[in-house]
Amino acid sequence: MRRCGECSLCCVVLRVDELDKLGGTPCPQLAETNGCSIHNTRPHICRAYRCLWLQGGLDDADRPDRLDAVIDILTEGLTTRLSIQEAAPGAFDGSARLQEIANAHRSSMPVRVVEAGNVLDPDRPFRVLLANGEEQRVLGERIELYRDGQKIGERHLPWLDRWARRLAVHFRKRRVRRILTPDSESRPFPRSGP
Ligand code: SF4
Ligand code: SF4
Repeated sequence: MRRCGECSLCCVVLRVDELDKLGGTPCPQLAETNGCSIHNTRPHICRAYRCLWLQGGLDDADRPDRLDAVIDILTEGLTTRLSIQEAAPGAFDGSARLQEIANAHRSSMPVRVVEAGNVLDPDRPFRVLLANGEEQRVLGERIELYRDGQKIGERHLPWLDRWARRLAVHFRKRRVRRILTPDSESRPFPRSGP
């Protein structure tokens, strides 16, 4: 059975609402050398979370801190995808192993790559690698299409996705603002979601 060992990358990459911790920011409870300083009373999500590597997926050598990315298989509605959250800018482009993992999965599910650290940008870009060899770069309401590194097209999000995105960005902005300036707002929306 695998153990986290010296890895504590999810304590940086993931969001923990109970602690008002934004995704992509180090948890204030993360001690410099001994891991979680509130281990016995840590929030439920911390107890429950197991990245794909810890669940036994990927190779032994692929522990997240060695790849600079946390990888999960996530299901939202009818869609299952591989999620790669980069802990450092350019981690995916700079890692042949991360690209290998993405290519091994993209034939069976979309692969979403996002940088965890730019959480302060509520409209942060991400990319999706598809089974047909295309890569979508989602920039706000615009999607650029690439194949073999060459841009092959561009389109706008469908209207329903546009509205869903606007709503999500609205709530994300408010949440980030509330956490960064706690006195500026009450807590008007549920503490769950992405
Ligand atoms: S990213 Fe995975 S291996 Fe690393 S601490 Fe979190 S659960 Fe453990
Ligand atoms: S509370 Fe502990 S386990 Fe949870 S994110 Fe913070 S340091 Fe990690």
